[in-house]
Amino acid sequence: MQGLLAALAEIVGPAAVLARPEELLVYEADGLTVHGALPSAVVLPSDKTEVARVVRACRAHGVPFVPRGAGTGLSGGAIALEHGVVIECSRLNRILRIDAANRIAVVQPGVVNAELLKAVAGHGLFYAPDPSSQLACTLGGNAAENSGGPHTLKYGTTTNHVLALELVLPDGEIVRLGSPVGVAPGYDLVGAVVGSEGTLGVLTELTVRLSPLPERADTLLGIFGDVVSACRAVGAIIASGLVPAALEIVDKRTIAAVEASVYAAGLPTDAGAVLLVELDGPALAVARQLERVRAHCLAAGAHEVAVARDAEERQRFWRARKGAFGAMGRLAPDLYVHDAVVPRARLPEVLERVCEIGDRHGLRLSNVFHAGDGNLHPNISFDRRDREELARVTAAGEEILRVCVEAGGVISGEHGIGTEKREYMRLVFSDADLGAMCRLRAAFDPEHACNPGKVFPTTRFCMESDPKARGYEHVELA
Ligand SMILES: Cc1cc2nc3c(=O)[nH]c(=O)nc-3n(C[C@H](O)[C@H](O)[C@H](O)COP(=O)(O)OP(=O)(O)OC[C@H]3O[C@@H](n4cnc5c(N)ncnc54)[C@H](O)[C@@H]3O)c2cc1C
Repeated sequence: MQGLLAALAEIVGPAAVLARPEELLVYEADGLTVHGALPSAVVLPSDKTEVARVVRACRAHGVPFVPRGAGTGLSGGAIALEHGVVIECSRLNRILRIDAANRIAVVQPGVVNAELLKAVAGHGLFYAPDPSSQLACTLGGNAAENSGGPHTLKYGTTTNHVLALELVLPDGEIVRLGSPVGVAPGYDLVGAVVGSEGTLGVLTELTVRLSPLPERADTLLGIFGDVVSACRAVGAIIASGLVPAALEIVDKRTIAAVEASVYAAGLPTDAGAVLLVELDGPALAVARQLERVRAHCLAAGAHEVAVARDAEERQRFWRARKGAFGAMGRLAPDLYVHDAVVPRARLPEVLERVCEIGDRHGLRLSNVFHAGDGNLHPNISFDRRDREELARVTAAGEEILRVCVEAGGVISGEHGIGTEKREYMRLVFSDADLGAMCRLRAAFDPEHACNPGKVFPTTRFCMESDPKARGYEHVELA
């Protein structure tokens, strides 16, 4: 390791290599605090050439490496298993170009999502993928996780907004994939890299699509007695042909946590759930759509429907929604944020079962989620120092995933698989399916040097798919 540390210091300068135990501790986990692993070192390169040299140095010393953004991931994706080196991308934080005529921006991966929004607003544009963590998370992390957010319902996830990228391959070669014009001949390798959770290389540049700011945006608040009625309203709104920009549900326990926090927005603490509906587009159309949404909410049993009076109130509602996970820090030291998707029509029954599972295990379970996408986030507040409670949290989490899969859903909507859900991949994919994905991974990274131990099961399947066991070490990259 000493030889590698010296090589890294020569590439990026000694100040940009962290190896003291107290420095490494910061990188022990991401937002999923129950999975942890200490890296051997953390290196902070400042440009693509340094990234490529760092990758080559790690390879020469036989040490795996892990790309990392802000570490807000919720599936253990950015932790360094096998004593790997973390390649932290926060110094690659420049917006290289904003091209309003072509509605694109060229950015480095360490740019924080909200910083891009701020930078392009003056051009009458916005970057649509808006994870609730957008004040901290990076565009590189967003691309690696194919992140979503409230606006995903209308605008799509990150994969719909990345046109081209630059990637340092796991052998240190630098490639450019895709095209700024949005179509590129040949295989859609941008599509393969987006959502690959840092297993195919280190992103060093992204060309992203920008969208025109809508003429008008309004936010409506439907106040319901229970979360199941709010889910019914979601089904009715979508079935009617409306496509709101966002359809989000916040349940009673979450409202209580938010209203007791700095994110308080005046949400009714006696409601069973609120449904936040954002409509955007031409002013006339938005006004008509608001009335239709109001009618659907009332028909589904809403006690009251309110519309944000001005931009300030609208921002307050969204700050409350996006601050909900943070506000839950008031309830317990740890929060397990689950993430699964079910067909929208099954939301009411699945939500009932999720709540029953939480109650049966005696857990503090709350729900705040992208209802329009059927993307659930059952959140369990707990204390990981209590081993018995942690065991109940894990058991409940597995039951919730199984219920979602039985309902025709999948095990992650936006937080990725990481270390958290790798064993559950078998719930949705056969060995043949997983084998195809493994072969794609091996084409980029035959030695599994880049972010090893993520995404794929470690059980029997993984033994079979181990690159060495299957002879992938003989596959040439060229
Ligand atoms: C409070 C809170 C709210 C959240 N809300 C949402 C939400 O609404 N929607 C959502 O989708 N997610 C959400 N998340 C999860 C998380 O913020 C996203 O997954 C985000 O995209 C991670 O970005 P990051 O920069 O923190 O990446 P990290 O956590 O550092 O890394 C995530 C993954 O990306 C890889 N990676 C990072 N940078 C690179 C790079 N340059 N090249 C290649 N791979 C890279 C890592 O290896 C890892 O696998 C939330 C998290 C928190 C804590």
